[in-house]
Amino acid sequence: MKNMSVVIPAYNEEKSICRVAETINEVLNKENIPFDIVFVNDGSKDSTWQEICKLSKEKSYVNGVCFSRNFGKESAIFAGLQYAKGDCVVVMDADLQHPPEILIQMYNLWLQGYEVIEGIKSSRGKESLIYKLGAKSFYKIISSATGINMSTSSDFKLMDRKVINTIIELPERHMFFRAISSWVGYKATSVEFEVQERFEGKSKWSFLSLVKYAIRNITSFSTAPMQIVTGCGIIFFFFAIIIGVRAIYQYIVGSALGGFTTVILLLLIIGAVTMLSLGIIGYYISKIYEEVKRRPRYIISKTAGEKTEK
Ligand code: UDP
Ligand code: MG
Repeated sequence: MKNMSVVIPAYNEEKSICRVAETINEVLNKENIPFDIVFVNDGSKDSTWQEICKLSKEKSYVNGVCFSRNFGKESAIFAGLQYAKGDCVVVMDADLQHPPEILIQMYNLWLQGYEVIEGIKSSRGKESLIYKLGAKSFYKIISSATGINMSTSSDFKLMDRKVINTIIELPERHMFFRAISSWVGYKATSVEFEVQERFEGKSKWSFLSLVKYAIRNITSFSTAPMQIVTGCGIIFFFFAIIIGVRAIYQYIVGSALGGFTTVILLLLIIGAVTMLSLGIIGYYISKIYEEVKRRPRYIISKTAGEKTEK
């Protein structure tokens, strides 16, 4: 029978580790699906790593890798994919917001020959209005840039070994996992799931970290912001021509004075657009800089369990 690896990124999840492992064990054991779990401790400040170590000694299916510091969820997922040994790999959250029962549906679809099985949120769960609005515009930009409908997508997905091997070969440092699984292609399908309440603790995302996440992922997946800048440039160029012609005309007919408001407004608008454009271009350059440094995506300080020995 084919083996499933479950990759779980965990940041300050000490209370959830045991519970999530047990629930997965219960669900998959009932169906006799052979599996193992790879926890990736993303530099937690609580005793998440101690929990993982303890569990890995008790249960042979539990493995763990520990980052030297917090590298972010995307890096944790990536490390998990690199360490996972299964014929198929599922990524899910530690907080049980992704219901483990769905794993069986995913596994069966995989047996039918699908290579990527996306978990689609049937509703977006309980989120604040501002979060919903932000998420909506973020996914709109991403969707138009990538041609992939992402509004209900999540990091909860199953991938075949082939797909995993393709993804871990990709050289970029900043990977937007949610979009990359559809970017690589392969035979894909999806299953719907209801987002559950967080099992314990609270979400690790602050408003600022979400904004950063959005900007980072939009720029790592598309150059649309730079094209918008070019568009603005073209529009302003036409305005400049019109106003320039008018100014020359006024000079010739001798009514050149006045128009102070126009000057101030133009100065402000052009100044703002220039600064914004420089900012966007600068952001892309800083990303190029980060990529060319070729630093590792993460640093592992410790591992636990049999399957994580390389
Ligand atoms: N997570 C992580 N590193 C981080 C932040 C989060 O590995 O820097 C993990 C976290 O432990 C959880 C998953 O990513 O397993 C989703 O995080 P969270 O529940 O905070 O996000 P939300 O469900 O609110 O999107
Ligand atoms: Mg969560």
